Amino acid sequence: MTEEAERKMQFLYALRSKGVTDKRVLEAMEKIDRGPFVRGIFAERAYEDMPLPIACGQTISQPSVVGLMTQALNVQTRDKVLEVGTGSGYQAAILSQLARRVYTVDRHRRLVNAAKAIFEELNLTNITAFTADGSHGLPDQEPFDRIMVTAAAEDPPGPLLAQLRIGGIMVVPVGQSDAVQSLIKVTRSETGFDYDELRPVRFVPLIEGLGQD
Ligand code: SAH
Repeated sequence: MTEEAERKMQFLYALRSKGVTDKRVLEAMEKIDRGPFVRGIFAERAYEDMPLPIACGQTISQPSVVGLMTQALNVQTRDKVLEVGTGSGYQAAILSQLARRVYTVDRHRRLVNAAKAIFEELNLTNITAFTADGSHGLPDQEPFDRIMVTAAAEDPPGPLLAQLRIGGIMVVPVGQSDAVQSLIKVTRSETGFDYDELRPVRFVPLIEGLGQD
């Protein structure tokens, strides 16, 4: 077996052993190479199941957490998805394999531009990336079938709840920014919102306003 094939097999094995079992999610994660989304000195660690530093003091999430969150979102092929917290663009790229269209926003222009360049390189034409404060959602594009927040909020942001379609699902880490947070799955029904606590996670905080770069 080539080194690359073995690395890929181990990567997928680590995902499965941590509970990522959805076939479509595993296929998407097999197809989208994490390598291009990790730069500089950490590039060689792209295939480890670890969060890694990216520009602007942010992090690319741990692959098994990306897998579990994607699985929890239960994305359907017709779905319009919003991701808040583009970061490296890796999570958006995975979502692009499962959804009709993905909108992703980050408060750092530099991260959005770098992610856009990778999306173009990989020909992921169903992703639109914006520099914006995602805690307000994207009023021009609502409602969304699915919303994934990849930064921790103290509560699920009201504007995001309001932009979720009835029957829609949002996955969001909730809790104090520097402590362990809870990953919450919110389902919107005709009459309100149902909340499911999934697992403890640790994310960088959702911060209001645009970043410096
Ligand atoms: N999903 C990313 C990892 C996200 S790290 C990936 O796959 O690599 C969290 C990101 O949320 C950071 O890039 C941070 O800049 C962004 N963020 C924090 N607060 C935000 C806000 N209010 N609006 C948009 N992005 C925000």
